[in-house]
Amino acid sequence: MTTQTLPTKTQTLVAEEMGTPFQLVEIDVPSAKDLHHDDVLVRFHASGICHTDIGSWSGAIPAPFPCILGHEGAGEVLAVGEGSKNDFQVGDQVVASFCSCGDCKACKRNEPACCEIFLPLNLGLTDKTLNHIKVPYKNKSNETKQAHVKYFGQSSFGNVMSVTGRSLTRISKDIEPKYACALACGFQTGFSTVVERAKGKKEQDRTYERYSILDKEYSSKNIVSSQIETKSNQIESFEDETLLVLGLGAVGLGALVAGKMLGFGKVIACDINPTRLELVKKEIGIDTLVNAKDFASTEEFVQHIKNISMYERGTTLMIEASGTAKALKDGIMSLAVGGKGIVVGSPQQTALLDIPSGLVLTNIWTIEGVLMGNSNPKVTIPFLVDMVKQGKLKVLDSIIKTYPPDQMNQAVHDAEKGIVIKPVIEWP
Ligand SMILES: [Zn+2]
Ligand SMILES: [Zn+2]
Repeated sequence: MTTQTLPTKTQTLVAEEMGTPFQLVEIDVPSAKDLHHDDVLVRFHASGICHTDIGSWSGAIPAPFPCILGHEGAGEVLAVGEGSKNDFQVGDQVVASFCSCGDCKACKRNEPACCEIFLPLNLGLTDKTLNHIKVPYKNKSNETKQAHVKYFGQSSFGNVMSVTGRSLTRISKDIEPKYACALACGFQTGFSTVVERAKGKKEQDRTYERYSILDKEYSSKNIVSSQIETKSNQIESFEDETLLVLGLGAVGLGALVAGKMLGFGKVIACDINPTRLELVKKEIGIDTLVNAKDFASTEEFVQHIKNISMYERGTTLMIEASGTAKALKDGIMSLAVGGKGIVVGSPQQTALLDIPSGLVLTNIWTIEGVLMGNSNPKVTIPFLVDMVKQGKLKVLDSIIKTYPPDQMNQAVHDAEKGIVIKPVIEWP
């Protein structure tokens, strides 16, 4: 509950029909007593625009229309629902990321990105009971329509919105909202994918104790977990490893920053846009750059990657963030024996992957899809916020461009054309 006066109306950017221009319209703000007990009223100061928003708007990802999209919000808490079970307070600074149910097995083991109802909760604009929630608005022709909300639990293309508590992470107050929102989706995804998937077969994975803890009858009689925890604190070294990142949008940049942080022996950045390659050289200090356009065939590309990789073995961890089947094929074929290829960019749904299937076994490859980097935002986002405050993410200054809400359609155009990596709507 709150003591301050809450606004009764707010501005939002509604997508009325698939692919038509966003309209800046007004909706009612729910009063504090009308908030669902899991909901938090947030005044967004900045809302990032991501290719997933553009996919939902353009029809590449199915969505109900009219709708209020937006899933990278940064702002402050204005009110919390009565009898709320979450621990947010009025005045908290928050980042809104993806939503999860909190009840399924994955959520209970702190892997919210693997939530069983991830897709309807985030992309389907439903609440936890899989119901649609709609708010009335008057469009430019003065007709009353109903817009679906709760995109990623937040619909942060609105200024003051009722947000599902599980989409929110509290952060410190001394970071500008435009930076905070830029961490909420793509950057977090790339960063967390590398941190989570770089882990190799550590010693504790192959011990008698590890195996025996899987045997419930044995582990109930023997204390084995503490021994395993101690060993897992050993710091792993990546100095012999090669990381290849394909596609240098926000996801790819997050992956490169993580690769540098973990100390990979070689970090290779690949794109077809020379400006992006120059950006990662200047801002992240990556000097092994590959323009995929320079190679006439997959064979030529793979040979080049092997030549520049550690011990000329090929890639030990490959992150595909461009979303093209061609890049995925090139990335997989460049894997070293025992290498891992991770798909994080949203690929063309119907494009077939053309690789010799026998190589997956004989080269002992792991090929995996990872949603949102398997991140737990409550851990990853505060960590990234601290990196911004420590001056370690200067790259954000080169990728963020801010727009007022009435320039939304220009911002979407600039993102679609690849002119701007991270457009951000700043609410007045
Ligand atoms: Zn869940
Ligand atoms: Zn996104």
